[in-house]
Amino acid sequence: MYEHDVIVVGAGGAGLRAAIEAHEEGADVALVTKLHPVRSHTGAAEGGINAALHEKDSWDLHAYDTMKGSDYLGDAPAIDAFAKEARHEVIQLEHWGMPFSREEDGTVSQRPFGGLSHPRTTYAGAETGHHLLHTMYEQVVKRGIEVYDEWFVTRLAVTDESNPSDRTCHGCVAYEIATGELSGFYARDGVILATGGLGQAFDHTTNAIACTGDGQAMAYRAGAPMEDMEFVQFHPTTLPSTGVLISEGVRGEGGILYNDNEERLMYEYGYANNDGELASRDVVSRAELTEVNEGRGIEDEYVHLDMRHLGEERIIDRLENILHLAEDFEGVDGLDEPMPVKPGQHYQMGGTEVDEYGHSCVDGLYAVGECACYSLHGANRLGGNALPELLVFGARAGRHAAGAVEEEPEIPTGPGAKSDDWDEESPAELGAVDATDPIAADGGAVATPQEVLEQAVETERERVETLMERDGINHADVRAKVQKTMTENVNVFREESNLKQALKDIREAREEYQNVAVADPSRTYNTDLIHTIETRNVIDVAEAIALGALARKEFRGAHWRKQYQERRDDEYLKHTLYAWNGGNPELYYKPVILEGHEEKYEPKVRSY
Ligand SMILES: Cc1cc2nc3c(=O)[nH]c(=O)nc-3n(C[C@H](O)[C@H](O)[C@H](O)COP(=O)(O)OP(=O)(O)OC[C@H]3O[C@@H](n4cnc5c(N)ncnc54)[C@H](O)[C@@H]3O)c2cc1C
Repeated sequence: MYEHDVIVVGAGGAGLRAAIEAHEEGADVALVTKLHPVRSHTGAAEGGINAALHEKDSWDLHAYDTMKGSDYLGDAPAIDAFAKEARHEVIQLEHWGMPFSREEDGTVSQRPFGGLSHPRTTYAGAETGHHLLHTMYEQVVKRGIEVYDEWFVTRLAVTDESNPSDRTCHGCVAYEIATGELSGFYARDGVILATGGLGQAFDHTTNAIACTGDGQAMAYRAGAPMEDMEFVQFHPTTLPSTGVLISEGVRGEGGILYNDNEERLMYEYGYANNDGELASRDVVSRAELTEVNEGRGIEDEYVHLDMRHLGEERIIDRLENILHLAEDFEGVDGLDEPMPVKPGQHYQMGGTEVDEYGHSCVDGLYAVGECACYSLHGANRLGGNALPELLVFGARAGRHAAGAVEEEPEIPTGPGAKSDDWDEESPAELGAVDATDPIAADGGAVATPQEVLEQAVETERERVETLMERDGINHADVRAKVQKTMTENVNVFREESNLKQALKDIREAREEYQNVAVADPSRTYNTDLIHTIETRNVIDVAEAIALGALARKEFRGAHWRKQYQERRDDEYLKHTLYAWNGGNPELYYKPVILEGHEEKYEPKVRSY
């Protein structure tokens, strides 16, 4: 067994920032990560980091843009803290050596991005995430923070009180990929999940193969609900054949979208008469797919993104990486031709329900970064707001876990936050998941923290042995079934019949998963075993997304419903929660908080 004050699971931008801050506050910290830190998916981020640095800009404008972008489903305490603290975080990154792109006079450059009222996106060429990871990893190494890399965390060690708000998280169980060893990690003060996104629930995504929703699913089974999972961001400019992202930075620099008639579609068809290509992502994705559906798409599939008019010098200076991506993955020279693009799954606005310090309803269990939901992005995230989120909330959670925060949170979590007026039936029959099956359910009981951890290790060992020893089906078919139905039925445009079909397919996949087995008997680098365990997480997060989408009968942000074409503030100014509930999944709601310390936000019509 390994032992530290704070265990951070995941070493992307959020995990690295959390570890640095907890260490600064005097905690003995360890990072446990299934990938080497600089291979984390943050490294794929291209476009930039928003912060109101310019003298003509201000944090409250940034907060307002974020709330408007969220379609008024963000919580004010999280949004205000974020917009204020992002400025300090970016300046600190600069002091740590982040090689930001600069103006002639040496100041850090800031480019326009979708939905922003001021150019406030700082960047490092089109490789911002890569530089961010390296800059923070250097700080981790400098501080001597212990990194357990290529350790795959499979389970949280949590006490088993029936009310999740009475439970405590004492650590986690991890599988060392190189040796097949399963070990307990005892956390004296807290476990911070920073495990990233869940794009592998879809088959056309900008996310890497490792983005399987592990943190959201582990926390869910340990008692911390998933929140606002129906809000999935589909990025408007992904390469059609692979899902590889073409950064919003291209449109920020002046790139233009054309349909098959070579019309500038955003203006020609009135999708966004003011902001055009720089409208919010949900608006641009719907515009592109409407063009395709109405017969003005290219090859019935995509539209063109043209940056040729920017000129070679500017493209090479600011977007060179985009040229390589278009050439390598689509065979297109962006200096000579427009690039084919279509919407693809990109980001998960929802995640583990936490407060503005990243703390969940389970004592000692935190979540930060893309796997978390402090209701910062609400129904739609603005481009360039995820990277500062990693920094601000990573630091906040690190500080809190190290015991250095005295303020009480304003965002409530857990079953106590449930709306009083909630009396609706679940919109679909989910069926219980057998909580006694060691493959299907997490448990945890007994007295001392060490015993809780030992039991979690033992349960996990049984699960792995069962998967390795029995005969059964391969997980890949089960995962492919989920990905296919999510892409077909829970995409940009959503209809009731499709959502029900997705839930049916996911339920079937869950049943089939009961018969999966690992064919590869190896104890070293057994990727078959790892992917099999991840697939269970993919099923859990996919079900939450589809059910939340079916239950929300309105059109808000990224969530479009054919039968419900309006935002319904009277009924749906509330967050969707999805709780494991001992193996009988439960859906409920809690109110949105539109009033912060300094700002009160009034929902307005959202147009660009
Ligand atoms: C292609 C692309 C471009 C983007 N560009 C931008 C941009 O320009 N600006 C912006 O603001 N946002 C951008 N985003 C969004 C942003 O980059 C991500 O939301 C963010 O980087 C996620 O960071 P994270 O630390 O939460 O997760 P990640 O960086 O994905 O890190 C997750 C970590 O968790 C570990 N992990 C996961 N599961 C386990 C497990 N079971 N056990 C142990 N370890 C585990 C992984 O090893 C990894 O270290 C982009 C996203 C994509 C996909």
